[in-house]
Amino acid sequence: MKISGYTIFDNKPIELSLDNRTISSITELQSTNSKLRIAPALVDIQVNGFAGFDLNVPNVTSDDVIDMVRALWRVGTGFLCPTIVTASFEDISNSIKAIVAACESDPMVDRSILGIHLEGPYISPQDGPRGAHPRGHVRKPNWDEFRRLQDVANGMIRIVTLAPEISGAISLIEKLVAEDIVVAIGHTDASPQNIRDGISAGARLSTHLGNGAHAMIQRHPNYIWEQLGADELWASLIVDGYHLPPTVVKSMIRAKTLERCILISDATALARMPSGQYQFAGQSVQLTADRRIHLLGTEYLAGSAIELVSGVENSVQFADISLPEAITLATLQPLRLLGAEKEIRELGDDLILFEWNPETFEINLKMTILNGQVVDQNS
Ligand SMILES: [Zn+2]
Repeated sequence: MKISGYTIFDNKPIELSLDNRTISSITELQSTNSKLRIAPALVDIQVNGFAGFDLNVPNVTSDDVIDMVRALWRVGTGFLCPTIVTASFEDISNSIKAIVAACESDPMVDRSILGIHLEGPYISPQDGPRGAHPRGHVRKPNWDEFRRLQDVANGMIRIVTLAPEISGAISLIEKLVAEDIVVAIGHTDASPQNIRDGISAGARLSTHLGNGAHAMIQRHPNYIWEQLGADELWASLIVDGYHLPPTVVKSMIRAKTLERCILISDATALARMPSGQYQFAGQSVQLTADRRIHLLGTEYLAGSAIELVSGVENSVQFADISLPEAITLATLQPLRLLGAEKEIRELGDDLILFEWNPETFEINLKMTILNGQVVDQNS
């Protein structure tokens, strides 16, 4: 079977030869009539769950992790950082164990998981900044506890999101950075000085900038402007159209520039599920038909229900950037943050094939190829 299309970044016509659902060769063509675009498989550094599988329930199993990762392949996400949120030590450990066991039992899943993102538990206890994280398990930074979690994870924890204003956070940031862990500021009520201190200690990312915040804040200064204006910090953005209004997405991408932005889905187990009321993270939530999840009776969003590819589509529409630029924010940028750009790019056989409709800003995914093998095909 032969498939031709245009590469996304340099717009070259190429032909993939597939033999038994595996790439046997890639040839450059003079031209092709194909409308297919060929891009690297997407990389999502914040995934809490997907398609009914929840990484943050006490009874999550390695099979759940494997099935979740495979469900993500079907929507073009080839690589991810499974994200574990604030919970008791036992529950965080259980989730980590399920991820480690999944990696040990399935080499393709192992290859897809770039590291664990630990979001919390060292975050602000306040309503608003805390988001949907359970208040009862929010706690002070504790290096000893982190070490024990990292031992359970066999060293797989690669990103930690924390609030720099909490007592003990700055010294924890320094220790994490010394171990090559990406420290992200998030779920925070930090003062501008707290943010500067976090940056000095080595924090490099703002997790879902503009979310995990109070509904009302002082116009300026505040923790959003301070992070937005800090060139030392990259920003991950949830571009589902709800977490950030379109003009905010545009303003943030322009302020940060493409060099410092990353798209994330922050997907929960409710992504890919039918709309309705659910018990989720111990709380009643509503998933609306237009893919918005909110805590019943509050104005707060309780996670996102999109796949990363929708964030790519929305970014083109909201921020007036090109499709290749938007793809970069969901592929090369997260890999650069993790220092994994080279290891993935050189393989060159982790691809998505899709058609793009510039009028409706829609990506119509046709195929995901990982490690040279077709892992999903939509005719
Ligand atoms: Zn969060």
